[in-house]
Amino acid sequence: MANRFEQLAAPGVRRLSPYVPGKPPEQLERELGIRDSIKLASNENPLGPGPLARNALAGAIAGVGFYPDGSGHDLRARLAAKHGVSPAQVTLGNGSNDVLVMLAETFLTPELEAVYSQYAFAVYPIAAQAAGAAARVAGAHPQDHRMPLGHDPAAVLAEVGASVRIVFIANPNNPTGTWLDEHELDVLLRAIPGDVIVVLDEAYHEYSAGRGVPDGTRWLARHPNLVVTRTFSKAFGLAGLRVGYALSDPDVADLLNRVRQPFNVSVPALAAAAAALDDREHLDATLALNRSGVARLTEGLAALGLKVAPTAANFVLVDLGRAAAPVSEALQREGVIVRPVANYGLPQHLRISTGTAAQNERLLSAMARVLAARA
Ligand SMILES: *Cc1c(COP(=O)(O)O)cnc(C)c1O
Repeated sequence: MANRFEQLAAPGVRRLSPYVPGKPPEQLERELGIRDSIKLASNENPLGPGPLARNALAGAIAGVGFYPDGSGHDLRARLAAKHGVSPAQVTLGNGSNDVLVMLAETFLTPELEAVYSQYAFAVYPIAAQAAGAAARVAGAHPQDHRMPLGHDPAAVLAEVGASVRIVFIANPNNPTGTWLDEHELDVLLRAIPGDVIVVLDEAYHEYSAGRGVPDGTRWLARHPNLVVTRTFSKAFGLAGLRVGYALSDPDVADLLNRVRQPFNVSVPALAAAAAALDDREHLDATLALNRSGVARLTEGLAALGLKVAPTAANFVLVDLGRAAAPVSEALQREGVIVRPVANYGLPQHLRISTGTAAQNERLLSAMARVLAARA
């Protein structure tokens, strides 16, 4: 049904369709009348928060009667120390999604354009369009490339015309799992003019560092137009709390601060994020679990005859070679929720997050049954 207020909305909003999140297990269980479903759909940490974050959360309850420290002083100081930058270079967000939206609000207008790669993270088009800006979509690598459907740096650069103010790069990218290596990024950063803001989204950095994916913060000093975004939602297991951040030149941070909501990160989120930074043990356990999970899912899905792209993140993108929606629905009836990516223009692929060892086995056996039934 047509929206009666459509014509009253800002032009950018009229053209938008909302982000479609993974289905919560409770909703699926209600809809299908099943129990004990598992969700491998939103790239969360199957271990959840670590013990230090849990303790900090419990301790923060008494403080929620007060507004949070709007400057996020302690967390910003810890992040600055961790990354070897000044606290004035750290901008906190309600998830890194918040930071991406602040960047679009700060730097984009209806006269300007944003560049991102085909199959790049779905929040970039939403943030750019909400700011009224036009998008220039760079063609991705082909399916048979060593980085199937990944960012093509030459194609990205070719889109950087005079009206482009932001280039979004996800490294590694969601939903493809693919990445740009150090040389590719180095060349791309040198080639993009200094008056174009480059947003390097490193939501999966903790996972990808072990795969030789570069740490973008090393280029912050050389490229003041570079903004690196990180999150506590993935490897740190705090997706439900909503904390992320940007590292940038202090002048860029100063601008972001002008649009940032004054209390955008909550009291429990500030406390848990700070504590999570100290929990090396939990992060190591997370990374080890993910390493074995990626190996097992890659091998197990390939054994079912499916094509699995290389990944530097905590999920795999699987090419089913046929419509993915019916397979996803059949998996749901087996109590396994994965992520269809037709909204990314990939109707034959599924994105599957790594789970615990038991959850990975459950996915693989469910997939085997579903494919056998539909052969
Ligand atoms: C998950 C994800 C994010 C951000 O998530 P937040 O929970 O908002 O921090 C950002 N970028 C990419 C590529 C992601 O996959």
